[in-house]
Amino acid sequence: MAKTPETEHPIKSYGYGACDTSGTFAPLNFSRRATGDKDVRFKVLYCGICHTDVHFARNEWGVTTYPVVPGHEIVGIVTEVGSKVEKFKVGETVGVGCLVGSCRSCQSCDNNLEQYCSKMILTYAFPYYDGTMTRGGYSDHMVTDEHFVLHWPENLPLDSGAPLLCAGVTTYSPLKHYGLDKPGTKLGIVGLGGLGHIAVKMGKAFGAEVTVFSTTEAKRQEALEGLKADHFIVSKDSEQMQAVTGTFDGILDTVSANHPILPFLNVLKPDGKLILVGVPEKPHELPAFPLIMGRKIVGGSNIGGLKETQEMLEFSAKNGITADIELIPIDYVNTAVDRMLKSDVRYRFVIDVANSLKTP
Ligand code: NAP
Ligand code: ZN
Ligand code: ZN
Repeated sequence: MAKTPETEHPIKSYGYGACDTSGTFAPLNFSRRATGDKDVRFKVLYCGICHTDVHFARNEWGVTTYPVVPGHEIVGIVTEVGSKVEKFKVGETVGVGCLVGSCRSCQSCDNNLEQYCSKMILTYAFPYYDGTMTRGGYSDHMVTDEHFVLHWPENLPLDSGAPLLCAGVTTYSPLKHYGLDKPGTKLGIVGLGGLGHIAVKMGKAFGAEVTVFSTTEAKRQEALEGLKADHFIVSKDSEQMQAVTGTFDGILDTVSANHPILPFLNVLKPDGKLILVGVPEKPHELPAFPLIMGRKIVGGSNIGGLKETQEMLEFSAKNGITADIELIPIDYVNTAVDRMLKSDVRYRFVIDVANSLKTP
């Protein structure tokens, strides 16, 4: 039987977790490990709600062990550091994203690509080295190995900056890696949600010409005026899609639900790239002809490594990139999830953990 934090760990913790596939969140008592030599303990201030939290809470990817305490867009303030911690001090503002462990010795880890380490450990619902399951930021405090803790840039807001820790790096990293960060790049962003709206801001900061592909006509004006996207296309409108056939260098698909990808292959130029970061429940259909006829590429990308996440935070601070958020108390989380699933949030819910989670 898997060890539980309750039997292995001495420090009481409190948060919100889901206990079955309904994904309903309720208050939960659990515990965390004592601060190890290389650990940073911090009080959680803010935590974004990523769609991945819902995939996990409802076991949509078939990998969840309950109870799950999600949250991987976490900003907090350091309360204790282990004796061998070199990079952080008590009182410092820090961030933790999607990763809390990796082997630190494979080729991916050596290349600062911890997210591709075969032994990487996610921030929640993943077995940790001591056999317990990791638990995330919908909670009062966290304890994390310092390698996986980020310095928070001074002029970056804490609440609206929190979503950068997942949504920010998940969009920054592929745009860089696939060479879609060049001025003048014709870039499409599919799905204007938490990831999508930050992708628009990243793309604009790189100097790309950004088109939003959305299913929600009501987002048109906000996308063009608020987010400064250059164009807005309703992806279900075949006439609008037809009009841009063969015109894009790259498309970043952030959609969380099953949807056809053929229309997005059709709007790519020859040698164009369709990059998937959204993870729907069921596999995509991938026809060969549209790829062959134009030497097109379909790729994927997983979050970002620690070095790149730190770089992305600095880039965002410098370029004024934050998420558009709705700040909520933690007991609103179930309503927030229902609203997110209806695309009824502009564009990320962030939980005001420190001010709304009252330890009993
Ligand atoms: P989100 O805020 O819910 O945004 C998803 C957007 O997808 C929605 O706002 C909506 O945009 C669009 N959409 C939803 N249902 C759709 C449908 N049936 N057909 C077409 N479009 C639809 O979610 P998120 O937090 O941005 O996360 C998006 C996905 O990325 C999730 O699957 C998440 O697990 C995944 N993710 C992956 C990584 C990674 O490292 N690869 C990291 C984080 C998250 P419109 O209203 O504009 O159509
Ligand atoms: Zn996420
Ligand atoms: Zn490794």
